[in-house]
Amino acid sequence: MSDRRALLRTLPAIDRLLGSPLLTELEKTQPHILIREAAQKTVDDLRRQLLNEQAALPDLDLDAVASLVAIRVAKMAKPSLRKVINVTGTLLHTNLGRAPLCSDALQAIKDVAQGYSNLEYDLDEGKRGKRFTHVEELICKLTGGEAATVVNNNAGAVMLALAALAGGRSAVVSRGELIEIGGSFRIPDIMAASGVGLVEVGTTNKTHLKDYAGALDNETALILKVHTSNYRILGFTEAVSGEELAVLAHQHDIPVLEDLGSGLLMDLTPYGLPREPTVREALKTGIDLVTFSGDKLLGGPQAGIMVGNRDVIDKVRKHPMARALRIDKLTLAALEATLRLYLDPQKALEQVPTLKMLSLPVADLQQRCEDLLPALQETTGDNADCTIIEATATVGGGALPLSELPGRVIALSPKAFSVNNLITRLRHCDPPVVGRVQDDQFLIDPRTVNNDDKELLLLALKQAFNPEQDH
Ligand SMILES: *Cc1c(COP(=O)(O)O)cnc(C)c1O
Repeated sequence: MSDRRALLRTLPAIDRLLGSPLLTELEKTQPHILIREAAQKTVDDLRRQLLNEQAALPDLDLDAVASLVAIRVAKMAKPSLRKVINVTGTLLHTNLGRAPLCSDALQAIKDVAQGYSNLEYDLDEGKRGKRFTHVEELICKLTGGEAATVVNNNAGAVMLALAALAGGRSAVVSRGELIEIGGSFRIPDIMAASGVGLVEVGTTNKTHLKDYAGALDNETALILKVHTSNYRILGFTEAVSGEELAVLAHQHDIPVLEDLGSGLLMDLTPYGLPREPTVREALKTGIDLVTFSGDKLLGGPQAGIMVGNRDVIDKVRKHPMARALRIDKLTLAALEATLRLYLDPQKALEQVPTLKMLSLPVADLQQRCEDLLPALQETTGDNADCTIIEATATVGGGALPLSELPGRVIALSPKAFSVNNLITRLRHCDPPVVGRVQDDQFLIDPRTVNNDDKELLLLALKQAFNPEQDH
C-alpha cells in the first residue's frame, strides 16, 4: 500500500505533461481545451489505478503517460454523430437514422446549404415567398391532393393538425387505433398535448360506423383515423373504411384526418410487401387530410407531410404551432429532390435507396454474399467460419410489422472469442458496424450495405479480428 502511495508523487504534473514532446506536437492539430481535459482525466485515472490494490501498476514515465493522453484526445476529437455500417437487414432502423438519402437529395442539400437560396423568396415576383411552395405542387401531383404542406416530422404533423382543426374541442378515435409508436408517441398523449379531448369509440378489435355516429356531438371537431403501422390485430376484427367515415363526417360538417404513418406513394406489392393503402388511395376515399413521414417507406429526409383539402391545409398553416414545427431548408431540399424521382416510379425504384433495398431480388443478394465471401474469409482467416445462409430482412421503422423480405446473409462464427464479444468489437470499429445475432452466429445482411461501403465493412472486420493493431 505504502509503495503504491509513494508512487502518487511521481505522477506527472499536468503542465509538465502538456509540455512533453508528444503533446506539444499534438497542440498543432488538436484544440488545447481537449488536450488539457484529456491530460487531467488520464492523470486522475492513473491516480485511481495506483490506489486500487487489485489494479496493475501503471507505467508513469512521462512519454508513456503522454501517449495515453494522445489516445484519449483522438477519441474525444471523433465526431459524436457519425457514419455506421448497418448489416442488420432492417431497412428503416430508427436507431440508425431510418432512410438513407438518394444522391439527388445529397446534391440538393449541398447546393442549398453552401450558399444562399430562394427558400422564402419568389424569384418570379421578386418578393417574399413561402417555403412550402417548393414541394406543394409535387406532393399534390404524386397524391392527387388539392393542397399540401410540410413540417418537421409526422408526429409534429399529427399534433399540428389536431391543434389547428380541433384545439379546445374533441376528436373521435377508434379504440383499435389508439397506438403507440416508438419514442413516446402515443395518440392519447398527442391529443392531450394538442388540447384536443379524446372520445374513444368501439372496442380493441371491432369498431362500427354506428359507434362513430353515436359519439358525434356539438363538441366534436374531427374524426381521426390512425394507420396501425407497427402492429396488426388479426382474427375477428372490423374497422370502418375511409369512405364511410368521410360521408359521416361531412354530414356533420367536420373533417376526417388520417395519420397514415409510412405513407406509400406507390404500390409495393410487386416486391413482396403486403397491401397497404397509398396516400392517393387514402385521399380518394374523401378523407380531408392525410399525414405521413418523409423518412419511412418514402425514403426521404425526416419530415411530416400533410396533404388534403385546401381549406383544411390553410387552417393548419395559420396555426401558431406551424411556425414552431417548420421544416428547415436542408430537409426541404432533400425532400424535393426525393419527391421529384417519384414522378417517374421506375427512377424512384432505381435511385431511392429504401425502395432499391426493398426490391432487391434474392438472386442479387446471393450474388452480393458470394462477392463478399472470399474477402471476408481472407480477412478473418482461421479465426472464423463464414457461410451463406437464408435469412429474412425487415422493413423496420414501425412500418409493415409482419412482412419479412426473403434474402441471403453471411453467417459468421468467430472461433477465438464469443459472438457477443464480436458484436462489441464491431461497435467500436471505425466505422462502427451494427448487426444482429441468430443461433450464435453474427449475420451480415448485404441488403442494407451500400456497395461503396463494402471496403469499409471489410476494414472494420479486419480491426475486429486483429484488435492488437491500434487504429
Ligand atoms: C411513424 C409514425 C408516426 C411518427 O412519425 P415520425 O415521422 O417518426 O414523427 C406517427 N404515426 C404513425 C401511424 C406512424 O407510423
